[in-house]
Amino acid sequence: MQTFRGGVHPPQSKYTKDKPVEKARLPKKVVIPLHQHAGCQAEPVVSAGDMVKTGQKIGESKAFISANVHSSITGRIESIKKGVSPIMRDGWCVNIEGDGTDEWFGSKETADVGKFSPEEIRQKIKDAGIVGLGGAGFPTHVKLCPPCDKKIDTVIINGSECEPYLTCDYRLMIEKSNEILEGLEIIKKAVGAEYGYIAVEDNKPDAAEKIKSVLKNKNDKVIVLKTKYPQGAEKQLIKAVLNREVPSCKLPLDAGVVVDNAGTAVAVRNAVLENIPLIERVITVCGSGISTGKNLLVRIGTSFRDVLEECGGLKKDVWKVIMGGPMMGLSQFSLDIPVIKGTSGILAMTLDERPVLQERNCIRCGRCIGVCPMSLMPNMLGLYSSRFMLEDGFKYNPQDCIECGSCAYVCPAKIPLVQLIRFIKGKKLEQMRKCKI
Ligand code: SF4
Ligand code: SF4
Repeated sequence: MQTFRGGVHPPQSKYTKDKPVEKARLPKKVVIPLHQHAGCQAEPVVSAGDMVKTGQKIGESKAFISANVHSSITGRIESIKKGVSPIMRDGWCVNIEGDGTDEWFGSKETADVGKFSPEEIRQKIKDAGIVGLGGAGFPTHVKLCPPCDKKIDTVIINGSECEPYLTCDYRLMIEKSNEILEGLEIIKKAVGAEYGYIAVEDNKPDAAEKIKSVLKNKNDKVIVLKTKYPQGAEKQLIKAVLNREVPSCKLPLDAGVVVDNAGTAVAVRNAVLENIPLIERVITVCGSGISTGKNLLVRIGTSFRDVLEECGGLKKDVWKVIMGGPMMGLSQFSLDIPVIKGTSGILAMTLDERPVLQERNCIRCGRCIGVCPMSLMPNMLGLYSSRFMLEDGFKYNPQDCIECGSCAYVCPAKIPLVQLIRFIKGKKLEQMRKCKI
């Protein structure tokens, strides 16, 4: 079965797999960060005291890599002030008090994709503020704008969902398979690609079958991949599906490919065919610290606290709340932070799941090298990083680390390899940027 080199097999723990997506309660208030995406913060286009409707633009992207931001409820702008988002970005947030009416801004329309040129598709995606919903949050209209000298022949829809616990993309593949395929056709048209693949891991056979049953285009295929983490990382996915390698420091488009996840495909479809901006997303709420795990369609800006209450609240012995999956997710310091476009899940872990982290010396077992999907030497990177011997460490290409955590997961000495490598990677990228200036 198709796959990539390296990787690990953490227990899947997909407890919410059979829970259909429920619409979350309309929040009474929302906090919407103007910086939820890669690149520059959106500029506010509303002021405190203004009344806004659901779907109305409140932040505009002014830079090349940036995304518009919309109100997810109807109500009054209480304030625009600094706040913290779950990705730890301290930036401007629009605080909105809802009036409970949920009145839609403008008109929803239904259109056929044949009506739009690639430029019009990109503009509609930009207007709707679509970013990658897998977590990285890269503005989608930028991704769909490859330079003229790069020919894109393939679009891959990432339905692998390799992080343990998360099931939001799985539920979309079961419940919104037609919409995912419509999104795929729109993305293909935007970049001029001929072939479309929907990549699904073999632990989700019903999702693969469901999508196969609604495939219409003969150039589109479902590819079933071996279940392995980090299958969903773009470079690993491209290797597994097409056997193409994305060179060091290059992008999927350098291999003729665009990758978007299943949720993003649905958001693209909704933006282009129905003029719906990105004001809500499906998230998985799960973990042993949660009373009732669910897949919920949540308005952007809803607090983690409100979402958790809707799932019966946290149990008493919660040790950690994480945004995203347990492998690459981020631990949170407060529940009073908002769901953003990149929030794929909220996980709560209990005290008995706390790992015993007694770091020891490296025993040179080589396990970290064996699992690294980027063929790096995590042991050497960790060693040089911990000793601050940066120039020596730079020779081991830390810039290629995708921070998947596979090396730390298998390390018997419990060395915090990802944190150490993240540090030296940051220094290397700094050096590379300076050299370019
Ligand atoms: S070095 Fe980076 S890419 Fe390799 S396993 Fe560790 S975290 Fe993943
Ligand atoms: S897995 Fe840990 S102990 Fe083994 S070589 Fe790598 S860093 Fe050393």
